[in-house]
Amino acid sequence: MLRGPKRLLTDFQPIEGPQVWRNWAGTVESKVEQIPRPLTEEQLGNAVLNAPAPLRPVGSGHSFTPLVATTGTILDLSAFSGLIDHNEAECTATIGAGTKLCDLTRMLAGLGQALPNMGDIDQQSVAGALATATHGSGLTLGAYHTQLRAIHFVDGCGKKRVFEASRDQEMINATGVGLGIFGAVTAVTMQNVPSYNLRRKRTMLPITATLDSFESLMSRHRSTEIFIVPFARHALVQMLDKTDNLGDYSATAEDEAGIATLKTLRNYLKSFPTIRRMLISHAMAKLSDEEHVGEWMKIYVTDRQSKFNETEYHLPFEEGALALTEIIKLIETRFRQIYFPIEVRTVKRDDFWLSPFYGRDTCSIAVHHGAGEDYSAFFRAAEAIFRRRGGRPHWGKLHTMTAADLAAVYPRFNDAMEVRREMDPEGRFVSPYLSKLLGIAL
Ligand SMILES: Cc1cc2nc3c(=O)[nH]c(=O)nc-3n(C[C@H](O)[C@H](O)[C@H](O)COP(=O)(O)OP(=O)(O)OC[C@H]3O[C@@H](n4cnc5c(N)ncnc54)[C@H](O)[C@@H]3O)c2cc1C
Repeated sequence: MLRGPKRLLTDFQPIEGPQVWRNWAGTVESKVEQIPRPLTEEQLGNAVLNAPAPLRPVGSGHSFTPLVATTGTILDLSAFSGLIDHNEAECTATIGAGTKLCDLTRMLAGLGQALPNMGDIDQQSVAGALATATHGSGLTLGAYHTQLRAIHFVDGCGKKRVFEASRDQEMINATGVGLGIFGAVTAVTMQNVPSYNLRRKRTMLPITATLDSFESLMSRHRSTEIFIVPFARHALVQMLDKTDNLGDYSATAEDEAGIATLKTLRNYLKSFPTIRRMLISHAMAKLSDEEHVGEWMKIYVTDRQSKFNETEYHLPFEEGALALTEIIKLIETRFRQIYFPIEVRTVKRDDFWLSPFYGRDTCSIAVHHGAGEDYSAFFRAAEAIFRRRGGRPHWGKLHTMTAADLAAVYPRFNDAMEVRREMDPEGRFVSPYLSKLLGIAL
């Protein structure tokens, strides 16, 4: 039940009354008492102490899981945005945590700096991307959080906390993939690299060849991403490497058109898998190779418009090809409604306590389901395969793991929970979802 507008937080604007918040996919909805947008750390500290709990910081709302959901207060941190400082010699930049990745890439380009890697889109906030271990692909490339050199928090007691790599590496490892449970992040310093250009090659390979040469395909290039199209017997393989050549490639909506075609074929031929397979295989085998060169951020980022739901698991690298074989079979025998390509990436191991890449090089496999369609049976069946092979779920993508499951696959899980207790002793940032997910008593 929503109550009348509250005016608790008297010293910052705008002060909001009850509101409805929804995530990008439209699948998580929260009726909250307030969505304040503090402008300073002092105002944020005041909100942390006084606003109705549970408090949940929000970035761009691109997570599929209800990490931001609450009946209390959603903290809008978009005012903590922009470039704060940079160090040319060390190639680092300190930025507001609410900065969107698309704005960050423009800022870094102006400094001659670059992110070493990126995921599929640039709409997330920096803090949101770090909090869920958002990643791109590449066996020698870590996820965004591995670039962290400093993190500025306002913790659950409303107190400013700054962790710097030179003296607090352990706390950065503990809180860097933070799920918004250690407090609100206001700024971060990131280790960047000098600006560079990328060559993107795309080629079509038969599934058998793709799986047989999986390891070399994934390690031969700086970044390889594989899209396995259901019923196609082919995979689209995308390979990125640095180049000194110049180019002006920018993302187009071509991938969206491909998805629309696959959906149409699914709609008409769901009961005729042989014809569906013949048409898709034939069309894909005829696609010619592509090559483009462009600035780093323009090559990484794609244009994703159609809405979907997604689950993604991070598996020990050596389990990747085996799990894929099972997932392809699952779709083609039991879940013929699936038309989205299976997305396969790799991520370098790291030592962040809540990172799904903790201590192991990873093969990440993502499956999607069209928005508005019931995904539960398919995702459950896919999850069973991923979990049997030691998978850890993407924090921002749909999964059913809870505290005991997580503690079994995250060696530093309990240590991270101890740090959480110290930083937020009253559990101001703990929502019912997080309580169940992480086993935190409310
Ligand atoms: C179209 C699409 C494409 C995607 N592509 C990829 C991809 O290529 N690779 C990948 O790994 N993931 C991908 N994702 C998942 C996405 O990157 C993550 O879910 C990410 O967390 C979203 O960032 P956000 O800013 O929207 O954060 P939100 O969803 O708003 O929040 C995520 C988490 O961050 C916390 N948080 C946000 N701001 C703060 C803050 N200031 N302080 C403390 N905690 C904070 C929230 O409380 C929450 O726990 C994709 C999602 C979509 C919808």
